[in-house]
Amino acid sequence: MKRIILINVLLISVTAFTQSSQDAKMKAFIDDLVMKMTLDEKIGQLNLVTPGGGVATGAVVSSGVEQKIKEGKVGGLFGITGVEKIKVVQTMVVTQSRLKIPLIFGSDIIHGYKTIHPIPLGLSASWDMKMIEQSARIAAIEATADGLCWNFSPMVDIARDPRWGRVAEGGGEDTYLGSQIATAMVKGYQGDDLSKNNTLMACVKHFALYGASEAGRDYNTTDMSRVRMYNEYLPPYKAAVDAGVGSVMSSFNEIDGLPATANKWLLTDLLRHQWGFKGFVVSDYTSVNEMINHGIGDLQTVSALALNAGLDMDMVGEGFLTTLKKSIEEGKTTHVQVDEACRRILEAKYKLGLFEDPFRYIDESKPAKEILTTQRRKEAREIAAKTFVLLKNNNQSLPLKRSGTIALIGPLANDKSNMLGTWAVSADRQMSIPVFDGMKNVGGSSVNILYAKGANISDDTLFAKKVNVFGTRIDIDKRSADVMLKEALDIAKRSDVIVAVVGEASEMSGEAASRTDIIIPESQKKLIRALSGTGKPLVLVVMTGRPLALTEENELASSILVTWHAGTEAGNAIADVLFGNYNPAGKLSATFPRNVGQVPIFYNHKNTGRPSAPNSPKFQSNYLDVPNTPLFPFGYGLSYTAFSYGNISVSKTSAKGNEKITASITVTNTGKYDGEEVVQLYIRDVVGSIARPLKELKGFQKINLKAGESKTVSFNISPDDLKFYNYDLEYDWESGDFEIMIGGNSKDVKAVKVNWVK
Ligand code: BGC
Repeated sequence: MKRIILINVLLISVTAFTQSSQDAKMKAFIDDLVMKMTLDEKIGQLNLVTPGGGVATGAVVSSGVEQKIKEGKVGGLFGITGVEKIKVVQTMVVTQSRLKIPLIFGSDIIHGYKTIHPIPLGLSASWDMKMIEQSARIAAIEATADGLCWNFSPMVDIARDPRWGRVAEGGGEDTYLGSQIATAMVKGYQGDDLSKNNTLMACVKHFALYGASEAGRDYNTTDMSRVRMYNEYLPPYKAAVDAGVGSVMSSFNEIDGLPATANKWLLTDLLRHQWGFKGFVVSDYTSVNEMINHGIGDLQTVSALALNAGLDMDMVGEGFLTTLKKSIEEGKTTHVQVDEACRRILEAKYKLGLFEDPFRYIDESKPAKEILTTQRRKEAREIAAKTFVLLKNNNQSLPLKRSGTIALIGPLANDKSNMLGTWAVSADRQMSIPVFDGMKNVGGSSVNILYAKGANISDDTLFAKKVNVFGTRIDIDKRSADVMLKEALDIAKRSDVIVAVVGEASEMSGEAASRTDIIIPESQKKLIRALSGTGKPLVLVVMTGRPLALTEENELASSILVTWHAGTEAGNAIADVLFGNYNPAGKLSATFPRNVGQVPIFYNHKNTGRPSAPNSPKFQSNYLDVPNTPLFPFGYGLSYTAFSYGNISVSKTSAKGNEKITASITVTNTGKYDGEEVVQLYIRDVVGSIARPLKELKGFQKINLKAGESKTVSFNISPDDLKFYNYDLEYDWESGDFEIMIGGNSKDVKAVKVNWVK
């Protein structure tokens, strides 16, 4: 034992020594380089440009990029793809600029590079951290094979308002789950060594609180108490920092009135001083310039404020490039500030191994070997299937039989584009497998599949125009709605079961894609109503980038499978699940409300002084028209089999100090199929110095159970799981009673009370 301890101590010391000698080497290299740099060249490193041709998410794209590169006025580029192009640009800087400082090349690889995986909201519904890490790892392998080294992901903004389109890009509403996902994604992208030629530097975004945009409208104001910030919204960003994320992106929104991009408390006090972040901070797209609109000052003022606050790199807007020199002359910022920012960017380039070899990520033979290969497709198909959530399955309409006639209907049933979801910027839409093809592949020749579009995604031409900015996503048919419906009803009547693939187009969620209503558009609702009227079993496959209000659909359909936007292999994966090759096991990471009026809605709310009392007509925190409860709660999701939960047993009901309590529960697969279940642990701090949520997720385990099998799942709970930020923002736990709850979703839990004292 002693020997093991000694070896461990030695190993730790050797690692620490190696680390510090590597840091010293890096410091010496950068000291030397910075000494040679002019002020213009230093400011140039802070400039991130996009030459256009990619997806510009603001009104501006950069101009004169080539000249600026040669003059050392560019630190990095994004929005260019293809290893050949990247090679040309890198060659330009290392042959034609004075100091030959390599560029970093970034991109938004949000859920896969060319092999697209499910949108992040979908990935989060897998509750499978290994798989989420693997998804990020695959994205890194593909993107680095194409010359990229920096990724504007993960987005870890907690989002509880599904009107906000960017809910698609994150891990849902929960702090604990979101933090686990942040860690998994950073690990997946960055691996254990940033300088390897198949790892990407991650960029956690959008720092901070962007997911709380008022009214779910994109780019809108956020405002919340520090207590809520620290307890609920900040932990996922911190988890990414703790996992060693290389960069952070500041958000568009303001925090306590001051835009995040110039918020010194946020970017320096919290991020660097409290959390110990050592990487660099990049602005969001023109978010420096946008502070003029926020009413903070002119471009020179806001640029200096941003730099002084701790922002290192200016994305696209060139406020830094064009004003910082003047601000130094006028004493509005300092050489020291510019040097610090410049050093942080050079350090990132050093860690990526770019000084050692600017062409580290350039190997033209790699794309063919790594990108969109058979293996990549296989992984994408398996990953996608794990993200689907079965919301309803009456009379076991699913899985489908591989015989008889299936009417496959709906505007998303034979569509190659929308299934890729938002931010599939590098994907080739022609390479994706629509549901129709997947159904034929998996169903085989013994099933007869009839197809009809049935309806447009939306009939609203103005709405379609806004959604179609990056290409046709809502394709309004030349035929009338009546003709399409008739065709659909004709095949429905000839079938044994109807599978209707409905929902949202890819660009109905994502950036600048907020909706005031979160229903399936009326054109499709008419179709669903008519199909339901046939009396045939109606299976709805819902593609969506956000939680939707599915109240009417829940009444009309026999089964509902939410598949999000599931990526390149969506069609095959959906067919795998519909035909039972894979038993669905996804669980919602965000609440599905009854209607939009319940929003924001989330499971870990407070009790209030007048908690919901559905039977009390007046003076309680109720609605008149609908119950407070959602249609489908956080953590919810069915399986083709059924699971039953025993009672919780605890190792003790009262604990002291740092003792641990083990809570165990036996879960039994009582159905006919083998299946997976996500067993969820929630804790309620019954009495606190401030009001505490009714329950908070504190752990989960995804288990496999064969039909008829039972397993006992145990959670070790320690006082760390009870900690929270109190009124004075001290992070600690308080003595008292705690309710421990375990179940298959946030609503249906078994509970036991324990007492824990300091
Ligand atoms: C988005 C970011 C994205 C950036 C670069 C912005 O508009 O908010 O999430 O990384 O554009 O494409």
